[in-house]
Amino acid sequence: MKLKCKICGSEFEHINPRANVCSDKCRKENELINARNRKKKYRAKLKKNKVVLPKQCIFCNKYFIPTHQNQKFCSDECRHKQLLINQRKADTKYYYNHRPRMLKKARDFYKENKDYFLQWQKDNKIRCDKYKKNFEERNPGNHYKRNLKWRKNNPEKWRLSNNNWYKNKCKTDVIFHFIKLVTIILNPFFISFIIITWISFFKIFFIFITSNFIIFLPL
Ligand SMILES: [Zn+2]
Ligand SMILES: [Zn+2]
Repeated sequence: MKLKCKICGSEFEHINPRANVCSDKCRKENELINARNRKKKYRAKLKKNKVVLPKQCIFCNKYFIPTHQNQKFCSDECRHKQLLINQRKADTKYYYNHRPRMLKKARDFYKENKDYFLQWQKDNKIRCDKYKKNFEERNPGNHYKRNLKWRKNNPEKWRLSNNNWYKNKCKTDVIFHFIKLVTIILNPFFISFIIITWISFFKIFFIFITSNFIIFLPL
């Protein structure tokens, strides 16, 4: 009986009319295709019966329906943001592990190109202020702590700078003088001192009058 092969399409002779394939090679391929189809059907069946539970996003804590098993984020945006945060954490970790070496390198670089940096700061003042603001927001109180540290290490320099600031303020500001006066006047010690002096003065005056009166009374 003449038959047609299912895989390669060539004609062949066989006793069994239900035969599909011509050779062993084609038979193996046919088996593979059949297995693949069976698996596909099985998966489709599973998918139909499967209940997909919503997951919580790691970054924004929103609930979403995952498309595959290992999904952790609701969107590409969240994934990207989390990646940036992780990178920053890794960078800070590296910085604190290699801190003295990196600080020394940075200081040397700054000393070598000091004029260039100062000129750049003058040219891009708005940008520098923005950086400063961002740094203070990210590390609240850091600037104050650094200032305290500097004061402890260089007490004489701090005193000098303080004196200079005070002198400049006295020269230029009129309101500063006024505030100084008001603070002195409103000081509780100052007020009590004035009250006591006035009372004592009146006491002396009163005694003086009464004594005169007493002296002159019999007359
Ligand atoms: Zn064949
Ligand atoms: Zn999210």
